[in-house]
Amino acid sequence: MGRDFELAARCRADLRIEVAADDPAGLVAGPPPDPNAEAIRVSSEIHRVLGRSLHLRHLDAGSCNACDWELSALLNPMYDVRRLGIDFVASPRHADGVVVTGSVTRNLETAVHRTVEAIPEPRIVIAVGACAASGGIVGESYASAGGVDRVLPVDVYIPGCPPRPEAIIFGILLALGRLDARHPRVG
Ligand code: SF4
Repeated sequence: MGRDFELAARCRADLRIEVAADDPAGLVAGPPPDPNAEAIRVSSEIHRVLGRSLHLRHLDAGSCNACDWELSALLNPMYDVRRLGIDFVASPRHADGVVVTGSVTRNLETAVHRTVEAIPEPRIVIAVGACAASGGIVGESYASAGGVDRVLPVDVYIPGCPPRPEAIIFGILLALGRLDARHPRVG
């Protein structure tokens, strides 16, 4: 636990961290980031990559709901991601990507596939929280497929149980970079 929120990674292996011998709890942290500077950076990056706002579909594939609450916090007056150009939509056909919470329960496996297939290409898939990233405390069983990458390719993994809103915003920004690499804009 610490102040750092730039935790998301494009590869699950990159989520492993080294613990410093002189700071085993990881309590030593730098100054907190300037929220206004971060907001401007995120907003300009979204418009640079997409030329418009970023629309995401949230899919709860089997979470305990804590990750979903942190996602909901992105829309409250504190984080207000709509001012950055990020919004959540009801239909995957209106979305640029999907954010998945929870390990994928067997009953929702088909729904996860259909939701992602309904999103036009290029699309991004973001796994939010430890359960979505690896199966978490639920793991893999007769009732759970495990992490999201067990059923479809994942672009960005956001660790945490649950991840804090800043970490989710950082992960979305990281996923935008992946979208940019697939379809670079000209000019
Ligand atoms: S990662 Fe933690 S908070 Fe998120 S769904 Fe799993 S158990 Fe719940």
